[in-house]
Amino acid sequence: MEKIIVRDVILKQNRIEYKVELSNGIADAFNQPFEYWVEYNEIVESLPKSIAIIPFICNVLPIVWVADAELCVPEIDEDFLMSLEKTKKAYVDMYPNIAFKGKLREEKVIKNEKNFKNEKRKSTAFFSGGVDSWATLVSHIGEDELNLVTIWGSDVKLDDDKSWKKVENYTQKVADSLNLKAIFIKSTFRESLNYTFLDNLISGKVRNNSWWYFIQHGIALIGHVAPYAYLNNIDLHYIPASCSAKDRNKQLASYKTIDETVKMAWCDVVHDQFELLRIERLKKIIDWRSLTGEEVVLRVCYSDDANGSNCSRCEKCYRTILEILSCNHNPADFGFNFSLADIVDVQIYFYENHKRLFVDKDYYYKRIIENVDSNRCDLESTGLFKYLKWLIDAEDIRKLQKVKSVRMYKLKTKIYKMLHG
Ligand SMILES: [Zn+2]
Repeated sequence: MEKIIVRDVILKQNRIEYKVELSNGIADAFNQPFEYWVEYNEIVESLPKSIAIIPFICNVLPIVWVADAELCVPEIDEDFLMSLEKTKKAYVDMYPNIAFKGKLREEKVIKNEKNFKNEKRKSTAFFSGGVDSWATLVSHIGEDELNLVTIWGSDVKLDDDKSWKKVENYTQKVADSLNLKAIFIKSTFRESLNYTFLDNLISGKVRNNSWWYFIQHGIALIGHVAPYAYLNNIDLHYIPASCSAKDRNKQLASYKTIDETVKMAWCDVVHDQFELLRIERLKKIIDWRSLTGEEVVLRVCYSDDANGSNCSRCEKCYRTILEILSCNHNPADFGFNFSLADIVDVQIYFYENHKRLFVDKDYYYKRIIENVDSNRCDLESTGLFKYLKWLIDAEDIRKLQKVKSVRMYKLKTKIYKMLHG
């Protein structure tokens, strides 16, 4: 059996480093030279190793299961260990076509007792600035003492200082404006893995064979919170749901059935706002903004043109802009550079990307159309309906082609082709 042996967990100032020995066959799952560490924005030297090891185990255990290998660790937290069988079962239930085997062998099991009681529940929540993150923020900001967590090494690469600075500044600004704490974690958890090997392990069993998307990212991200939760007496961790219980898509690494099995010492995990659709989460944010008067600057965009905010012209930006409009609100109030005159660009985008929008992402766009339809009276009273009514028939490409801006665009393209071959 292939082996991953954790020889040591080194705690130095704000950094946890894992010294690991790999047998030949499983070494291919990792990039060489093997370098695996996690950094926090506080000193972590007082952590018990049974907790400090959790980020590594959460990231590597699915590899152990799918590659049928053995993971050997010097010590492990008892509650976390007990939770792992449930986590494995959740994976088995989600992916019956993948075999989850492998073994975890621990030398010592340590019970880390909860020896505090917070007056107000103290929680952490992942925060990227998108609709899902904000929905979690506005749902718990009153009842919890909330800490926003962002991980460098997840969506932003470790050598991309420029993009990270934008993410960090944005999150810090949101946290400061609401008197919350922002926590930044830096980790090699993605860059240490060899995705060619891992994607190949599940080849033909999930869409695009994506290890990150379907197997890794849920519990791998959660595990990073354990050291912080231990050191700061955190009761609960929220992971903002991206899927919804009402969606037809039931396979994703970060899903309620998987995420909520994880327990890190006393700290439970909640896969938050799962019962709501994306557009319902957005309504919650809009209502909160109206109620509190707080500023909400969404950050939904991953485009290179975004320059730290939203490009306001990619699929994700357009989708969110239409969602906001369909709720009878102004996208410019939520961090988008968009005026109603720009709706013609959206119409052309719909024409050009019709299949992508109404096949791959139809569950989002159908909800927007439903929302326009059901809010028709309110949208008419504010004058927004005339900018959105084309959407109602947009699924039918023949009807979309009759929209004035699309007709003009087709004509211009035709003339251009005639002139330029
Ligand atoms: Zn964008």
